[in-house]
Amino acid sequence: MNKEELKKEFWDCQILFNESLNKFTYTLTGGRGEIVFFPDTLEQLEHIVSYANGHDIPLTILGRASNVIIKDSGLEGFVVFTNHLNSYTLQGTTITAQAGASLKKICEYAYISSLTGLEFASGIPGSLGGGVYMNAGAYGGELKDVIESVTVITAQGQLKKYDREECGFDYRTSRFQSGGEIVIECSLNLKVGNSHLIKERMEQLMYLRRSRQPLEYPSCGSVFKRPEGHFTGKLIQDANLQGYKIGGAMISTKHAGFIVNVDNATATNYLELIDLIQNRIKKENDVELVMEVKVLG
Ligand SMILES: Cc1cc2nc3c(=O)[nH]c(=O)nc-3n(C[C@H](O)[C@H](O)[C@H](O)COP(=O)(O)OP(=O)(O)OC[C@H]3O[C@@H](n4cnc5c(N)ncnc54)[C@H](O)[C@@H]3O)c2cc1C
Repeated sequence: MNKEELKKEFWDCQILFNESLNKFTYTLTGGRGEIVFFPDTLEQLEHIVSYANGHDIPLTILGRASNVIIKDSGLEGFVVFTNHLNSYTLQGTTITAQAGASLKKICEYAYISSLTGLEFASGIPGSLGGGVYMNAGAYGGELKDVIESVTVITAQGQLKKYDREECGFDYRTSRFQSGGEIVIECSLNLKVGNSHLIKERMEQLMYLRRSRQPLEYPSCGSVFKRPEGHFTGKLIQDANLQGYKIGGAMISTKHAGFIVNVDNATATNYLELIDLIQNRIKKENDVELVMEVKVLG
């Protein structure tokens, strides 16, 4: 792809070439992105999608990169960060936000608007779009509980709106994980609540997070999904793997379900450690640990 042609084609959009992606990921790992975009408007995003589609260019969408491991070999083609598409509005008790809005900010906005229902998500460090894709959840709540509708751009560049029932939500999954649709907007249906109680609940959950999760280190959160009938952390703890390191990646001593970057880890360090955990738990417990985190590249 010709750099000058692309600069001309996307003159109004922030675009970086052969850019290190590690500074954008929550694990601080990952290779380079061939062509990296930060669209400010929906029109720019639509332009990028239709250009990629028309020229057969691979396209990767990222929110805050808090649930991905990007391989050290990097990402070919277009890489699009949605974080500049981050506006939101309130109508009645419904917040409608763009995909790149941070979940934390939307939760704060719900709180100052005295709206309840989203407290569970206040410590989840991703974008709304990434959260919808993952059906992110914590402490008994999942985004699917409050989602009214989701608007996407299809791989062919058309806009489509889905009601909650059409989104195929289940434990850490949604229809958006198959089919190449890009989430651009989402409406969340909340209820009128008491702002003191909302704040109290958010603070209580943040306290629990800080006391149980290694938030002082870079990580991608819980690496694995919860296997039926087991707790991932307990399985890894019982296998005496806490503190085990490959390169700069270490199985957290605070929460065994997290892998933390303690010393300039690479994505390869992460992937080797994940492989080791999966093999050990399969051998010792006959349990398959399925990754929650997405590996890209
Ligand atoms: C410390 C820590 C704690 C965490 N705690 C939780 C928790 O309690 N519960 C929980 O569920 N998760 C948790 N996570 C994981 C993560 O924050 C969530 O999954 C979050 O919703 C991901 O959002 P993101 O914007 O970072 O997505 P990204 O990591 O950028 O992307 C994740 C996936 O979604 C896709 N994607 C992103 N945006 C879009 C879009 N607009 N359209 C289509 N596809 C898209 C990407 O291609 C990728 O496959 C935690 C992570 C960390 C680091």
